Amino acid sequence: MGSTWKTICKASLDIDELDIPFTNSFVKRICKGDKTLFWVDKWLNNSALAGRFNRLFKLESNPEALVMNKISKGGNISISWDWKRTPSGRTRSDLNSLNEMPNAFEFTEGVSDTWAWNLQPHGLFSWKVLDRMIDDKLLQDSISINETERLNLLPQKVGVFISRAKQRQIPVRVELDKRGVDLDSVRCPVCDNDIETVEHTLLHCSFAKDLWSRAFRWWNVRRSMYSSLDEMFKGSLNDSHNPQKSTLWQAIEWVCGYIIWRNRNNIIFHKSRGSGPMALNELQLKSFEWISRRSRKLTIVWSQWLLNPSTFDDHG
Ligand SMILES: [Zn+2]
Repeated sequence: MGSTWKTICKASLDIDELDIPFTNSFVKRICKGDKTLFWVDKWLNNSALAGRFNRLFKLESNPEALVMNKISKGGNISISWDWKRTPSGRTRSDLNSLNEMPNAFEFTEGVSDTWAWNLQPHGLFSWKVLDRMIDDKLLQDSISINETERLNLLPQKVGVFISRAKQRQIPVRVELDKRGVDLDSVRCPVCDNDIETVEHTLLHCSFAKDLWSRAFRWWNVRRSMYSSLDEMFKGSLNDSHNPQKSTLWQAIEWVCGYIIWRNRNNIIFHKSRGSGPMALNELQLKSFEWISRRSRKLTIVWSQWLLNPSTFDDHG
């Protein structure tokens, strides 16, 4: 039994490390005070009175008294004391504060004290719910690990652009309009075929679609388009046999989004419109420059990068 308890405590610390507040998630609901130790259990303000009022606790005749033995709930809550020696001096003022505390305490309706699990609204503990919480956390963490790897391969400006785009905080016309900016039109300045949202600009605009299909062909990725922006941000290739390849392609996806956005801005601010082949060339050149300069693990050769970018030397 002792070792089982140790295992549970150890596991609960591991769970806490995932930022799930598991260790403190079990709380006592006090009804009558029949199963709760007055001094030892953490029933009042989430701490044990024996610790907070240590000097008084030493004077207590019955250290294991139950809450129901000490507290009487009349109109006002009062505590009955049983001291080995009458508190005086500092312990006297401790006693005054302690006498005040239970008045703010709320007893739960019911016949007996129970444990409640405060990660669930109704308080019932469930392994299934806990499992799901852990899975969700692990998944979130793994995404952020991927993202860090990708960010390390790219300049900060690309990372900043992507995180703004994710939060729909790049100044496409629809977003500007939502924020009260007065515009002649909310239509796409590139193709004029639809209103300009982040989704449209980065995925569905004619320029974007063209560059994506060139990028897919370049990397031999068999897909026609993303089902959503989130899929693109998250990274669409997950090759467990070749995680480096996944990371590289994911970095390319972000660079591709960045180049699409730059082209859109060139059209608005410089009245200059790039062509599909030029955009692909820029994607290949920029990603080569950025990734080969930043990656300590990979050696990329330009000619190979152009023809077959997913083959490279991995120095591990
Ligand atoms: Zn468009």
